[in-house]
Amino acid sequence: MNIVKALFKSQGGIHPKYNKELSRDKKIETMPIAPLLKVSMSQHLGAPAKPLVKKGDLVLRGQQIGEAAGFISANVHAPTSGTVKAVAEAPTAIGAKIPAIEIEPDGEDKWIDGISGIQDWKNADNKELIAKIAEAGISGMGGAGFPTHVKLSPPPNKPIDTLIINGAECEPYLTADHRLMVEHAAEIRTGIEIIRKILSVKTVRIAIESNKPESIEAMNKALADIDGDVEIAVLKTEYPQGAEKQQIFAITGKEVPSAGLPMDVGCVVENVGTTLAIQDAIINGKPVTERVTTVTGNPVTSPKNVLVRLGTSYTDLLEFCGSTKNDVAKIISGGPMMGFAQPNLDVCTTKTTSGLLFLAPKEVYNYESMPCISCGRCVEACPMNLMPSELSFMLEAEEFAEAQELNVMDCIECGCCSFSCPAHRPLVQHMKQGKAWVMLQRRKKQ
Ligand code: SF4
Ligand code: SF4
Repeated sequence: MNIVKALFKSQGGIHPKYNKELSRDKKIETMPIAPLLKVSMSQHLGAPAKPLVKKGDLVLRGQQIGEAAGFISANVHAPTSGTVKAVAEAPTAIGAKIPAIEIEPDGEDKWIDGISGIQDWKNADNKELIAKIAEAGISGMGGAGFPTHVKLSPPPNKPIDTLIINGAECEPYLTADHRLMVEHAAEIRTGIEIIRKILSVKTVRIAIESNKPESIEAMNKALADIDGDVEIAVLKTEYPQGAEKQQIFAITGKEVPSAGLPMDVGCVVENVGTTLAIQDAIINGKPVTERVTTVTGNPVTSPKNVLVRLGTSYTDLLEFCGSTKNDVAKIISGGPMMGFAQPNLDVCTTKTTSGLLFLAPKEVYNYESMPCISCGRCVEACPMNLMPSELSFMLEAEEFAEAQELNVMDCIECGCCSFSCPAHRPLVQHMKQGKAWVMLQRRKKQ
């Protein structure tokens, strides 16, 4: 097994302070089940799942309680056994209100009967493997939440030649993927072999940033005797190396076209947490009922990487990490670059909760936005070759159609432009508004 440096340098990028030392060396701890779990029907990209249970129902761990409602959607399962107390709207990390199933655990944590994997997966039909992944409700656990069974079913006219396993975890502070690679490398290897079989690909690259030598070592050991063209590609430590398009370019030199997908250049990218969930579904037959997330930040008494049941409130999650030792100025669901600011801790953990970050007052600055000084730093930092300053002017003037012409939809909302701007222009916010407008027009047309 080779360990190689990624061959290409993708455009743009920034070097924020990573602050991973707060939780990097903390082993994954299993959190006890909270007294109430609120399981959202929207834990993935696409249509929210349709609730399958009602108030008063008894449920078992792994029982399907939400049914995928469309092609881009995912099933949802009970994270433990207990009683359904309500099916009611609950806030999500992005500020929406979505139906959630409230479960009062019975303390037995009893799995539903019939949980079993596909033992002879190496000889199984790929359709059977994909159906098992769909049944298990797996969606991208790096944060994007794209339903995995859809990603693993590219159309026949999009042949895949390269599988990239994304262990970059380029967001500052977050260390959950790093701990998964250190502690579960062997299971991730099995997940890689399963995906490789499903996609019939020969080339596999495990992408890890150079600031994670322990992850590189653990994966190298676990993959030592794997057959075929499998390599660890060490990426330069630079944000956003974890973004799919940047990673594909850094490793293969191929550029995903504007408005295109990785499959357009023969690639599929799967996060290490997703790969582990695939292994758990195929080998053990288990649907997604928990995930590892990083609870961190200077105010947190005891930052941790936590194995937590889905539906656990952020309040309970923080309590498991000993609360906060000083004032908190900002709470972010996810990482500081692409995460979502939270007004309180009411939101509950989902399959996409990669982290929960608390920032102290001295780490948060309130800037007044000033006029653009045309310094070009945002253009230099943009990994998507966009012109954030130009787009921002257009979007401020509500020239949405013009912004669409300038490819605002290619923006990956990484925040590199805002981070670099000396005038503190709300660039990424403008991009989000522009993209929302385009999406609305598309929906209207449909
Ligand atoms: S947020 Fe969008 S416009 Fe800004 S740097 Fe990232 S991709 Fe470019
Ligand atoms: S970084 Fe800020 S000030 Fe510089 S060109 Fe971009 S928007 Fe203008």
